[in-house]
Amino acid sequence: MGTKGREIVGVDLDQLLKMLNKAYADEWLAYYQYWVGAKVAVGRMRGIVAGELEEHAEEEFKHAGILVERIIQLGGTPLISPEDLMRETNCGYDAPRDPNTYKLLEQNISGEQCAIEVYTKIMDFVKDKDPITYHMALEILEDEVKHEEDLQAILEDMKTPVQRG
Ligand code: FE
Ligand code: FE
Ligand code: MG
Repeated sequence: MGTKGREIVGVDLDQLLKMLNKAYADEWLAYYQYWVGAKVAVGRMRGIVAGELEEHAEEEFKHAGILVERIIQLGGTPLISPEDLMRETNCGYDAPRDPNTYKLLEQNISGEQCAIEVYTKIMDFVKDKDPITYHMALEILEDEVKHEEDLQAILEDMKTPVQRG
């Protein structure tokens, strides 16, 4: 990034880059957890759940792309190995070992709740000090809030007994 562009960032740059790289790790792991979850899903509402997980995978992948651009723009280096992702993640990787759709939804809802906290913290950190990162985190946060809502709505549908007669 240009020198002036970096100069206007009013927070500790190393600390910010650390936070952005941690979120970047979360996004890759969320991407993979959704992507592989969609492949292995079995059980109730499998088609609907798999479709939603695929959509979310794509959006997490986009988030990773948005973060890496900002990291580089700020003069940082993105995490470059899968080991780094596993070490730096805030939200962890919850392998879909039980491929039941109910379990997959529960796992990914927890992941979204963690993501919501991560972006809220980034926004608190840069508020009034780095409007570009603030705006970026807000846009991602909007997606994460939607993700949580979408998964919880499917889970609710799944719990609703089928009306017969
Ligand atoms: Fe995301
Ligand atoms: Fe998400
Ligand atoms: Mg969705």
